[in-house]
Amino acid sequence: MELIDGKAIAAQLVAEVGAGVAALRSRSGIVPGLAVVLVGDDPASGIYVRRKLAATAAAGIRSFEYRLAVDTPQAALLVLIDELNANADVHGILVQLPLPAQIDPLLVLDRIAPEKDVDGFHPVNVGRLSSGGGGLVPCTPLGCMKLLDRVIDDYHGLNAVVIGKSNIVGKPVALLLLEREATVTVTHIHTRGLPDIVRAADILVVAAGSPGLVRGDWVKPGAVVIDVGINRIIGPDGRPIIVGDSVMDALGHARAVTPVPGGVGPMTIACLLENTLRAARSIIGEE
Ligand code: NAD
Repeated sequence: MELIDGKAIAAQLVAEVGAGVAALRSRSGIVPGLAVVLVGDDPASGIYVRRKLAATAAAGIRSFEYRLAVDTPQAALLVLIDELNANADVHGILVQLPLPAQIDPLLVLDRIAPEKDVDGFHPVNVGRLSSGGGGLVPCTPLGCMKLLDRVIDDYHGLNAVVIGKSNIVGKPVALLLLEREATVTVTHIHTRGLPDIVRAADILVVAAGSPGLVRGDWVKPGAVVIDVGINRIIGPDGRPIIVGDSVMDALGHARAVTPVPGGVGPMTIACLLENTLRAARSIIGEE
């Protein structure tokens, strides 16, 4: 079984984006800029934002950080988004989710200019993805596809099963697999007979947030497994550890799997940088 090294592949992508940023800067004087907005003090969100900001610096992308109080009114956040939409130094806008209860996330995501929507959650980008591409694609699904591309040359007719139907991972990854002309089945918490559906999969993308969900005997020999899950559990020695949604030790007969941590996670951040560079190029009319 091959372990798909997301950490190394992501490092390579960050270096490529860094080279692209430097080239853009020397031919146009433009430095791509990413605005990251965090509302409240959720510790997990704080960690994600810190990682994202560190990665932007590594790629030569300028970052603009906005930390707002947990009781920030929705109207104030919308005013900030309007300002960022109008700011020529900002090419990408990311509002870290989840947002506090007084703020409607859909309203906020709808307010971001589609060409600066580096998370790919604006309805215009969602629509472009479902009608065949051209827009900004959500980072985690994009990262999953880049990992799959390392081990799969031809998707035509392969059976792909996606576990999870969220707007952030499951649905967009299913659309990307469909675009490659795999035969795609999307499953979720109410799916009946999940193990047998999974047993038919040449490609399995699991994004359920359920540790140990996918067992070894669910996985077809020779299948490729992308494990998106990030679950904090207590390990055998009583300390917290991060695990995915599959029982990794039982997947020896798979052809290739992504480890957790070190698989999809680093790719998500690298794809955010790539999307920011793409957004900058597109805003200045290069793409
Ligand atoms: P979500 O809670 O929005 O959606 C989970 C989906 O999985 C739902 O559609 C649900 O029906 C399905 N599901 C849950 N339990 C199931 C079960 N037992 N059987 C079948 N289906 C089941 O979650 P999400 O935002 O899509 O995230 C999913 C997982 O991926 C989480 O662990 C999250 O932390 C992780 N994640 C990782 C990254 C990354 O960068 N690696 C990014 C986003 C999410």
